[in-house]
Amino acid sequence: MLELKNVTVRYGKHLAVDSVNFSVTKGEVVVVLGANGAGKSSMLKAIAGMVPTAEGIVELDGDPMTGVPAYNVTNRGIALVPEGRGIVGRMTVEENLRLGATPPRARASEEDTLAQVFDIFPRLAERRKQFVQTMSGGEQQMVAVGRAMMSKPEFLLLDEPSLGLAPIVVSEMFKALAQVRKTGVGLLIVEQNVKISLRHADRGYLLEAGRITGSGTSDELMNDAAVRQAFLGGD
Ligand code: ATP
Repeated sequence: MLELKNVTVRYGKHLAVDSVNFSVTKGEVVVVLGANGAGKSSMLKAIAGMVPTAEGIVELDGDPMTGVPAYNVTNRGIALVPEGRGIVGRMTVEENLRLGATPPRARASEEDTLAQVFDIFPRLAERRKQFVQTMSGGEQQMVAVGRAMMSKPEFLLLDEPSLGLAPIVVSEMFKALAQVRKTGVGLLIVEQNVKISLRHADRGYLLEAGRITGSGTSDELMNDAAVRQAFLGGD
């Protein structure tokens, strides 16, 4: 289980994440809904060891992750797919994917995991020798998710996977993520795209100005007045 206990992130005096508590179990899809600037990216970066937590603790199966550097967080089984994807345009699909297999336990099963990624994203198999910079936004997002899978994570963190993608591509992406979940990985997704992310999540949380202000099953959140007001124009 991935657990956040009173996690707080500050940039100088600015409080970006304010005493956040929640958990994700393996094989579960949890979405954190939040508007621009709500603190979604900061929260994921705190879990991934990319920004320090001012207070609170992140635990993986009861072990504290606080203060663990980012590369070690990946070694311990947490992979982040950052907003903007962070892939290498001048390398091929396959080269990018193999870059993800850095943790020792991932290297041992690199070929099997690569086959699994190609199974979930057949488009990447067809285009394994293509330079990533020549691919569409949706294909690049697939590469980013595939590369994170190559580290054999127990938990996959996704920062706005739908950003900038056409609705049909978003739908394909979420269907692929459902397959990733079936492999036993826990997914924590931060999103502004409420409808599609709740459709594919088990549960969710509402993040406003760094604080969790609501939680529930996907159905509960979809029908929640505050969620509808904030994200769906109250309709
Ligand atoms: P977006 O969807 O726009 O990326 P977000 O919900 O992911 O928003 P964050 O990027 O976590 O939000 O930002 C939360 C707040 O912290 C914002 O007010 C932002 O300006 C501020 N912030 C983020 N990173 C830094 C930083 N490195 N230094 C100072 N302030 C920052």
